[in-house]
Amino acid sequence: MESRKFFALFISALCSVTAFAANQLIMVSDGKSDYQIVIPDKGKIPWMDGFLEKSAKLMQSSIAEAGNAVLPIAEESKRAPGKPCIYIGSTEKTKKTGINTDKMREWEYVLKTDGKDIFIFGKDIAGAKAKKDASGGYTQYELGTLKAVTAFLENYAGTRFIMPGPNGISVEKKAVIEVPEKLKLNEKPFFRYCIGRASNDIFYDIANNFYPTVQYGSYGGHSHPVAIAQDKYFKTHPEYFALIKGKRYTHDRRPQYCLSNPEVQELIYKELLRKLDEGYNYAQLAQSDGFRACECEECKKFYGVDDFGEKLWIMHKKMAERLLKDRPGKKAMIISYGPTSNPPATFKDFPENVSIELCNYSPENIEKWRNCTVPGGFTVYIYNWGFYKTEGFTPKRTPEFCKEQIELFRKNNIWGIYRCGFGELYGLEGPVYYTYGKLLENSGRKPSDLSSEYCESAFRDSAPSMKAFFNLLHERLKIELENADKTDWNDNRLLDGKIPDMHENVKVLLLRYPSDVVNKLELCLREAEKTAKDKKEISRLKLVRTEFDYLKKTALIAELFDNYRKSPSKELFEKLANAIEARNKFISDLPKTGKEENIAPRDGFNLFCYSPAQTLMTGGRLRCELKTPYNWDVALYKKLNFTPGSQEMKVPKTDTPVKIDGMADDSIWGKANPEHLLHIFMDKDIEVPETSVKASYDDKALYVLFRAAKASPEKYKMENITNWFYVFLENDKSMENLYMFPARSTNKNANIYKRFQTGNKEAPNEFKQFSEIKEKIDFACVTDEKTGSLTAEFRIPFSIYGKLPLSGDIWYGNFLRRIGDNKNQTDFIWEPNINWKTWRNRYDVMGKLIFQ
Ligand SMILES: [Zn+2]
Repeated sequence: MESRKFFALFISALCSVTAFAANQLIMVSDGKSDYQIVIPDKGKIPWMDGFLEKSAKLMQSSIAEAGNAVLPIAEESKRAPGKPCIYIGSTEKTKKTGINTDKMREWEYVLKTDGKDIFIFGKDIAGAKAKKDASGGYTQYELGTLKAVTAFLENYAGTRFIMPGPNGISVEKKAVIEVPEKLKLNEKPFFRYCIGRASNDIFYDIANNFYPTVQYGSYGGHSHPVAIAQDKYFKTHPEYFALIKGKRYTHDRRPQYCLSNPEVQELIYKELLRKLDEGYNYAQLAQSDGFRACECEECKKFYGVDDFGEKLWIMHKKMAERLLKDRPGKKAMIISYGPTSNPPATFKDFPENVSIELCNYSPENIEKWRNCTVPGGFTVYIYNWGFYKTEGFTPKRTPEFCKEQIELFRKNNIWGIYRCGFGELYGLEGPVYYTYGKLLENSGRKPSDLSSEYCESAFRDSAPSMKAFFNLLHERLKIELENADKTDWNDNRLLDGKIPDMHENVKVLLLRYPSDVVNKLELCLREAEKTAKDKKEISRLKLVRTEFDYLKKTALIAELFDNYRKSPSKELFEKLANAIEARNKFISDLPKTGKEENIAPRDGFNLFCYSPAQTLMTGGRLRCELKTPYNWDVALYKKLNFTPGSQEMKVPKTDTPVKIDGMADDSIWGKANPEHLLHIFMDKDIEVPETSVKASYDDKALYVLFRAAKASPEKYKMENITNWFYVFLENDKSMENLYMFPARSTNKNANIYKRFQTGNKEAPNEFKQFSEIKEKIDFACVTDEKTGSLTAEFRIPFSIYGKLPLSGDIWYGNFLRRIGDNKNQTDFIWEPNINWKTWRNRYDVMGKLIFQ
């Protein structure tokens, strides 16, 4: 690039501009230009006027930024005579080029020269739902002319559309802007749409081939419930709905149908026609989500096949055949999802008007379609991005992944893409979004080159550091959970075969972002921040910085928690607690806007997809919700001296046995220190009714006192509240002698349960009632009539253990309060299991009881 620029300068200094133009048209040289930007006269195609004006202004500002020359914009009839023109869109002059846009397909475009004039245009289509004044947003149009404009600027004016928003357009400075004299480029995009969450930046989407479609009447996945609305039909025609366990089935979001009913079929078909008659070329034909089969006799016999996926394929195929006659030229997009994930078994050839939308697009699944004829080809519904995935608001894909996927799609005639999730991280995922977009139009390009190109355009002076940053980041993304046992990248934990015992979302952070990796990334980013000079460049780095700081703070907690779980101590707890507080503060310090306290955009960039702060706090949705330890109420734990995983309690000796009457008046209770109970899964959102516990002992027994504030039923959505108290005790760490003593507040004695091994790895322990012990566990509980608070006392004789604790001995135990009604229950505990996986191992850890 550099050498060519100097060559051009050298020539233009020696020769006249025209002489050089033997093979290049010079649009701008040394800040001077003869050219004018020409758009069609206004009012000819009113809905195009706004788009053309925007395009002309983009052309003007990009050329001004690149070549330091401001070109005038004129409507065709008012253009300056005798001056060369850049014609944008369907001008009268463009029509005389002999290229007819009527015959073009969607998103097709042309860049062409004629003499000194340049023509930039394409197929422009307004969708059926588009408003006449184009006020409904750009996704209601297919704007080939705008694609032509962005392609022209990318090819000849050093422009890149790297992020949405005005700071996302990068323009390279050029002394000369030139165009081949005999230019004739006619592009027909392979992928006809790539929809999903729009960026709200028309040029970002179009330049990067994230094309809207106005041809496809989609229901977002399910057309049957629209065809047969439950509200409209359930009362009058219950027989339309699936018979399940002898009843006609209803569901507010996912109603199911009796498909063998001819009227049901007719309504589904009529809806297909209605959608197409709105102006679409193809319409979705798709069963309800969470498909359930109707159990009626007719449905069982329907089409003489057993499998309901097969019944659906046959039914949808028949509808497509009917459509051939009723609406020649129009198409059905049949979904392959749930019961129809596999191709049909009873036929191989679909009618000519059928395309299939694949929700399972793995190479294995695509292979299954090898023997089927689908004349309309395939489209896909992809799950590459989105903060519902395990990674939440951290990066997900590598540039190489993008290439593999797009090549797979092209090879298999998959020509349309719906992206479920996209755009949550324009900073950290920017190069990958760019790579994906650019590969859509040219899958032959190298993903690493595209990622580099992105860095050069986005970061210029600081590009070398940012390339190093993204190279390392993409290397780390190759570590995937599913392959963790097969892949041995460079992670020591993996090499040692020690996959951390964590929830997947925490595990993925731990594997990809250990401190040494994060520190390397930090150094690269810091270096870039030092070298950046340009304002736009700085604003982009600020975006990367914000997203990276979130990643850093989130990953640090995963690492500290992993260390803490291996050897819980007060010191490590302090570190972990500080990291949790730092992450909380980082999120609450981000500027917010809107009703839901959404993260406010900055410098024209959307931060974290404009998500509510609370969503960022929980790390995302669905598969990535970060719970323990992210949601710990560390301020409260610090106040109560609560260190989960390393709880210790001093047990003072008493000279006089405690009287088990539920009254806290024994003198020893004045001397023992209270310990506090918190929610069993440390769920910050569940309010903890103040509950404390004390213990004491003599030569015969352990005494335990609970003080429990009233828990009001409304707060816990319970009808009325019953209280239970539990003591767990064992004399050594083996868990061989672990007993559980539960008592309901109205009981006189506590029950005796003993721990047994189940042999199940996931839940190794179970408590069973144990009747071999003769001793009674005295228990008494008193409720204060005024406050509703309870005091409960236990006496647990040491004879059960055949052993007496001596001063200085350590035994192990736990204390639990349960509140509940006959539907729900909630537990509060002294020592929660920070390694819990399911509700079945929530009681598997004990704190230390230190006998004084
Ligand atoms: Zn039925």
